Amino acid sequence: MKIAVLKERAGNEARVAATPETVKKLGALGAQVFIEQGAGETASIPDSAYVEAGAEIGSAAKTVADADIVMGVQAPDLALLKGAKPGAWVAATFNPFGQRQRVDDYAKAGLEALAMEFMPRITRAQSMDVLSSQSNLAGYKAVLAAADQYGRAFPMMMTAAGTVSAARVFVMGVGVAGLQAIATAKRLGAQVSATDVRPETAEQIASLGGKAVFAEGLTASGEGGYAAELTGEQKAAQAELVSSHIAKQDIVITTALIPGRAAPRLVSDAQIATMKPGSVIFDLAVAQGGNVEGSVADKVVEKHGVHIMGYSNTPSHLAADASALFSRNLFNFLNAFWDTETGRPVLDEEIGDAIRLTQGGKVVNPRLAG
Ligand code: NAD
Repeated sequence: MKIAVLKERAGNEARVAATPETVKKLGALGAQVFIEQGAGETASIPDSAYVEAGAEIGSAAKTVADADIVMGVQAPDLALLKGAKPGAWVAATFNPFGQRQRVDDYAKAGLEALAMEFMPRITRAQSMDVLSSQSNLAGYKAVLAAADQYGRAFPMMMTAAGTVSAARVFVMGVGVAGLQAIATAKRLGAQVSATDVRPETAEQIASLGGKAVFAEGLTASGEGGYAAELTGEQKAAQAELVSSHIAKQDIVITTALIPGRAAPRLVSDAQIATMKPGSVIFDLAVAQGGNVEGSVADKVVEKHGVHIMGYSNTPSHLAADASALFSRNLFNFLNAFWDTETGRPVLDEEIGDAIRLTQGGKVVNPRLAG
């Protein structure tokens, strides 16, 4: 069983899909791990650390040659996968809705694409869930980046020269990233409020010391613990709530996503205009179309004196920790299904059917039907 890990090619990607720790653990299962030269550099992992853990280092072609499984953070271009075994698994994130053509191409190439972001949100799959592990770090980093951009302090400070008041932070969207953003902003000493469309999050906000701010009667819980899209009336109710709250905020962190759709628009230009100059908005959804009008990935845009920012790949800004967690998710996934008799993983129906995009030359995932 040969497992290959390539250097990530996307310009904004500093993570890597295996660390020396997971290489060692995969070796203990009986797999041989091949790593492309320099694959870990941007995540502060030298080739020598992989070698020490038992991996072989080589060119991309040598790494992929006859591989049974290729692991990636982002799915590699097909050109890099020539030489992998027919039917080889590629376990990575695929952005299947955004990059549908690539899924079709993988099918044609006879590869089995396993989309890690389609991992079901069930208890036994929690340790394999890359969306959770990466969103958690992203929520943390968004607050730090916004704090750095903000020309004032977060905590209240009483000094001989007078008092500095605490920053007011408003978190919109209280999933994994939002919860970590609330916790991080609290730790930095801010006064935190938060909103969501799933009413069950009110208790979670309070448990972290935040204040829940909800539009009355607004609930849009969708399938699998995710949010559903709002109706026109619901959008208007939410806009009213945001308008009345946002003018008093110093920092706004937006994290709202709807699976398979563009991110919902939560903050309009007119609402930004009511904020104080020097306020900061961090749009964590900027790569999915943005929650905030005017946000541009990897740029700080100034509108009405407010700084609007967001990264195209936030977890990549914490590449070492993000790689450690991502690669553990991948290891936990393979380990959970490892068949010791055949020396290879065998997926069960519940998880296999959820994450498998392509098999036997076809696109097989029901979420991509039509
Ligand atoms: P997400 O990244 O899909 O969305 C972020 C947040 O934005 C969500 O809380 C969502 O409700 C909210 N949102 C969407 N539209 C909104 C709008 N118009 N206005 C305000 N907020 C809006 O969410 P996520 O972090 O992936 O979490 C989704 C759910 O899955 C949560 O309930 C989470 O606790 C759960 N979860 C379960 C597991 C598991 O059991 N294995 C693992 C991770 C997450």
